[in-house]
Amino acid sequence: MKAILIENQDWTLFILSLVGILGFLSPWSQQFMLLTPLYLLTVAVMLLSSYKVNMRRMLTFMTIASLGFAVEVLGVSTGFPFGTYWYGNVMGPKVWGVPLAIGANWGVLVVAAAGIMKNWRANNFIKGILGATILLGFDLFMEPVAVKYGWWIWENVSVPWTNYAAWWVIAFALIQIEFKWHTKTDRKTLASTVIFSLAMFFTVLTAFSWSTDTWRKILIVAGTFFFMEFVAWFAHKYLMHGPLWFLHRDHHSKTDGFFERNDAFFLIFAIPSWLGLQFGSMAGFNWWFYVGMGILFYGIAYFLVHEVFIHQRFKWFRNSENPYFKTIRRAHKIHHKNTAKHGGESFGMLVVPWNYFTETKKLG
Ligand SMILES: [Zn+2]
Ligand SMILES: [Zn+2]
Repeated sequence: MKAILIENQDWTLFILSLVGILGFLSPWSQQFMLLTPLYLLTVAVMLLSSYKVNMRRMLTFMTIASLGFAVEVLGVSTGFPFGTYWYGNVMGPKVWGVPLAIGANWGVLVVAAAGIMKNWRANNFIKGILGATILLGFDLFMEPVAVKYGWWIWENVSVPWTNYAAWWVIAFALIQIEFKWHTKTDRKTLASTVIFSLAMFFTVLTAFSWSTDTWRKILIVAGTFFFMEFVAWFAHKYLMHGPLWFLHRDHHSKTDGFFERNDAFFLIFAIPSWLGLQFGSMAGFNWWFYVGMGILFYGIAYFLVHEVFIHQRFKWFRNSENPYFKTIRRAHKIHHKNTAKHGGESFGMLVVPWNYFTETKKLG
């Protein structure tokens, strides 16, 4: 049994959080919740043991966990920096009003987020920004679950914005400690599995506490996002390689300078997004607002995939062994092989035909 658990650590983690989800959604959620500190401790031990365990590894983790814990003690007793809140009694033993498990939670999240970023070739500042943003996204999903199950309680029922701002800054600072102190990049750690299995836990539980109205908004954002892939494909194939070729041409031939004429399309697509956000929010956040948000998210995804990952206009992430990213990059490079207006192929960005994936596998 022990050998199976060690060999399949990734699966063990996923199954543990799946069991957690089922337990939390079951009628025995109150009893099940008492296992949360134990679960966090298990995740911490598994995560750390996937690194080369030495003094430096343990000390860095303990420092991050202690600093996270100290900030929480400050937070609970003064209302700074997060806002005014208290911890419930379900997270295990407390010291100065803060459950010890919360310290472990900071340690796990920070080491795991930093672990994901370590393999990217970028400077620590950029990687810190991305890592802290991942953890901010995490907290967005963690808050409703924590409030619902009484892990902690906010003075004014809604979560104050200071919580998210402080959370981001602290995450950034703690990630820098991990980068500075634990400089070794271990080949295969459980960092991404930890983030994904915890993210799965919190997103599923958050989704279950949404009203039908929340679901409708999310569907509009997601629907717009995917529809934009179609719009981008259509515009690329029939307009950019058609009447608007004069704007797109320089993207198919090497030019000097940072900007291309082709960047005009970012402005063009920003207009409907901005109009949606502006008029939608003025009309009391009606569905226009969420359409604008979907377009904005697509723009950000397009920027990260096309400008950063494929064309390397910013030297942020250069390597990815992920088959999906490798495939969409290869598909787009095939599009660029043709430098003329007509006769090209592969006009999509995030969605490419299935045979490109099978080819990537063959190429290895
Ligand atoms: Zn093109
Ligand atoms: Zn391109």
